[in-house]
Amino acid sequence: MEFKTGLGWNLKTSLIEKDLKYIWHPFTQMKDCEELPPILIERAKGLKLYDDKGDFYYDTISSWWCNVHGHNHPRIKKAIKTQIDSLEHVLFAGFTHKPAIELAERLTSITPKNLTRVFFSDNGSTAVETALKMSFQYWQNTGEKKKTKFISLDRGYHGDTIGAMSVSGVSMFNEVFSPLLFRSFKAPSPYCYRCPVGKNSHTCDIECAGQLENILRKKSKETAAIILEPLVMASGGMIIYPAAYLKAAAALAKRYNVHLILDEVATGFGRTGEMFACDYAKGIEPDFICLSKGITSGYLPLGATLTTESVYNAFYNDYIKKKTFYHGHTYTANPISIAAALASLDIFEEENTLEKMKDLAELFHKGLEEFRSLPVAGDVRYIGMIGAIELVKDKKRKTPFGFEERKGFEIYKRGLKKRLILRPLGNVIYLFLPLCAKKRELACILDTTRQTLAS
Ligand SMILES: *Cc1c(COP(=O)(O)O)cnc(C)c1O
Repeated sequence: MEFKTGLGWNLKTSLIEKDLKYIWHPFTQMKDCEELPPILIERAKGLKLYDDKGDFYYDTISSWWCNVHGHNHPRIKKAIKTQIDSLEHVLFAGFTHKPAIELAERLTSITPKNLTRVFFSDNGSTAVETALKMSFQYWQNTGEKKKTKFISLDRGYHGDTIGAMSVSGVSMFNEVFSPLLFRSFKAPSPYCYRCPVGKNSHTCDIECAGQLENILRKKSKETAAIILEPLVMASGGMIIYPAAYLKAAAALAKRYNVHLILDEVATGFGRTGEMFACDYAKGIEPDFICLSKGITSGYLPLGATLTTESVYNAFYNDYIKKKTFYHGHTYTANPISIAAALASLDIFEEENTLEKMKDLAELFHKGLEEFRSLPVAGDVRYIGMIGAIELVKDKKRKTPFGFEERKGFEIYKRGLKKRLILRPLGNVIYLFLPLCAKKRELACILDTTRQTLAS
């Protein structure tokens, strides 16, 4: 096979040939690989991913929003090695283990106080499915049989399984599956750059929460829960919204007697500058929080769904009462994954990660502000170590690039030549950085990103 790269990639051709012969990559039009074959990565350290020639790429998207403390961290590696010497896996029904007990205790101590119970799974979609099913069955168990629907945001994303897709926004990715999905009520997203109620930052009074309330007013009696990504709608284009919206949604959930499910799969574990994005809305009491991605700092798969004593108690009864939660996943609470998660939490404490990150985030935000003058930069938004640039054709009119123009893909290819991973979300280019980035790495990444967008 011949590759039309023309980009001068250093290919281990035979391996890449085999990759393309045997592997079907996720979220990938495999035909694009003719032009741009996958890049072979052999090792990684800190923020750097090294290819087979020893050249590096900056891991500007934290290996799909997972990596927190950098690659090849001695503390996490050691924890994994130690755990593997004693227990690699055991069924989690009828059996338990010390790492799981410790992690459950620690997770309940760092999330909102009303969350007291932890249900483990093995990825983000399963953490979400668990919350949806628990909320649904809660209302069945408590006799409110009509509460079977969910409210979600029209640009939200909660995973690729059928239930998670059903509560995600309708997009190019899931449109084809729409006959399979259950109906959920969609509220307009608090998308400030393209405000659904035509306000701007000076005139905003979180009117968009009123649209959520309109749905609740009509539908709360048939609604089990509202599901949201707190503060950052990540896959929807790194849409960052004010904590006031989250507070308003939490208050509405209480007032209208529906659960609030917070999907912190992308935002959890320091990415936004606080341990969890919901910490920006102090005092809110979600009924569920879904965690995954950063939980093991990107070393191994793990998911967790936290909930309240009240939800737990609605399932707690004599076996013959049929209140049991019949749900689980084979690799639930895998001990090696959990050992990585515990080590990651230790690092947060020992290295004072969140405190140290403050200066870094400030520099990051300052650097991003300078992007505003770029002709293609319609919007620049950021929080913590997440920054995004929404590309437009015409800044005044906010005209997006057309689907067929593949502007994001073009920038992605340009970025790779400069050793950056600027993986686009439609017309949005973003940086989603590990919390351990060094100042000079950050400066280099910002500089190169700006050059890439300007050229
Ligand atoms: C990635 C993501 C998921 C899905 O997680 P997977 O591990 O890919 O299944 C769910 N919710 C949010 C907010 C995500 O960003």
